[in-house]
Amino acid sequence: MTTPILSPVLSRRVSGLKPSITVALNNRAKALKASGVDVLGFAAGEPDFDTPRPIKDAAIKAMLDGQTKYMPTLGDMQTRQCIADKLETENNIQGLTGEHIAIGAGGKHVLYGAMQCLFDFHRPMEDPWEMILPTPAWVSYRPICELSGGVVKEINAGPETDFRITPKQLADAITPRSRLLILNSPSNPCGTMYCESDLRELAKVIHEAIDIAPNLVVLTDEIYEKIVYGQHAHFSIGSIPEIAGRVITLNGMSKAYAMTGWRIGYVAMPGEFGKKFIKAMGTLQGQMTTNITSFNYPAIREALTNPAVAETVETMRQAFASRAKLIMDRLSEIPGLTCPTPTGAFYVFPDVSALFGKTSKAGTKITDAPSLSEAMLDEAHIAFVPGDDFGGISANHLRISFACSDEQINEGMDRFKGFVEGLS
Ligand code: PMP
Ligand code: GLU
Repeated sequence: MTTPILSPVLSRRVSGLKPSITVALNNRAKALKASGVDVLGFAAGEPDFDTPRPIKDAAIKAMLDGQTKYMPTLGDMQTRQCIADKLETENNIQGLTGEHIAIGAGGKHVLYGAMQCLFDFHRPMEDPWEMILPTPAWVSYRPICELSGGVVKEINAGPETDFRITPKQLADAITPRSRLLILNSPSNPCGTMYCESDLRELAKVIHEAIDIAPNLVVLTDEIYEKIVYGQHAHFSIGSIPEIAGRVITLNGMSKAYAMTGWRIGYVAMPGEFGKKFIKAMGTLQGQMTTNITSFNYPAIREALTNPAVAETVETMRQAFASRAKLIMDRLSEIPGLTCPTPTGAFYVFPDVSALFGKTSKAGTKITDAPSLSEAMLDEAHIAFVPGDDFGGISANHLRISFACSDEQINEGMDRFKGFVEGLS
């Protein structure tokens, strides 16, 4: 006789959790390709380049030298200090030591940890802590916030401001419940960015709101900082002294160094609260993952300090700049689309709502961005991410990643154009 098993119920936490559309679509495009379909993937938010050789060599050497055991949870002090030095010299963020740095298994993982440290389920329902989220925004901020007990308050921006929120919008959104403000420049999915003066104006609003929102902290996700090609340089809001003590800077190795599969990210926060926050990250990580893969630490230092790697990063940046131009030229040939010019990251985010209500050659009714994306994958074999999960006005948009070759961009845009011209 078999023993009856417990009723197979999953936690409410995961039952209600939305899968990441970027990860899901990318997996789907890869599976279709593996099954022999000639799919062109524009869904992946990852550089197509290989990790620079010196970074690989540093990890291989560390592994061969026996650095294969557990390490301090948040990383060895040499590597944490190396990150602090990088943030001070390149980003002008002052007052950081290794103790203000936490290294985890990717930007997504340290984001998760940070939100777990900041939000709480034990607040009264009628008085939750809020995360202010300028949209369009990367798909993972909202679910991670909600998993941590926070409530999301969106501020919507549109193409008319290059998807940037205004200081007035921010001032209007801040209340005593405000716990966290997310900033992400250059932006996934928009491909646009805030310049220094924009960020100084937002910082002024944050500084002036101290009495209204004493618990407000800013998390600035700068994972695309090295991929900029517009008229403005990247600027770190954590370098502004008036608010520096309230700013968590998030970054990682995935995008700048073509290291998505290595899973390395970090957060930094200066000051006394910063130390306390990082210590809490360590306690949490100690119960979750312990340290990241031990032989990766020397690879981080190599990436951040080897001038030859910096040269390769610059070569990749130039390639993204030229692809941004190519894809904008090709998109301008497609009727009905509008799209701000990208200045950072490797995404374009065109408004495709003019195509809604039409029917494809194969007879599919295009009602919204998901049905458009689905029809394009099935009929033209091109994978684009529908905007819906990026929030705000995103449902009218598609996200196209151009982290791929010129040939693929040209072939993909030929297919996109052919598909749109076939609509009736
Ligand atoms: N932030 C943004 C804006 C991203 O696009 C990504 C890519 N998924 C991440 C963070 C996290 O990247 P990773 O986990 O690979 O470090
Ligand atoms: N950041 C990338 C993207 O947006 C990778 C997938 C993910 O983690 O969301 O496509």
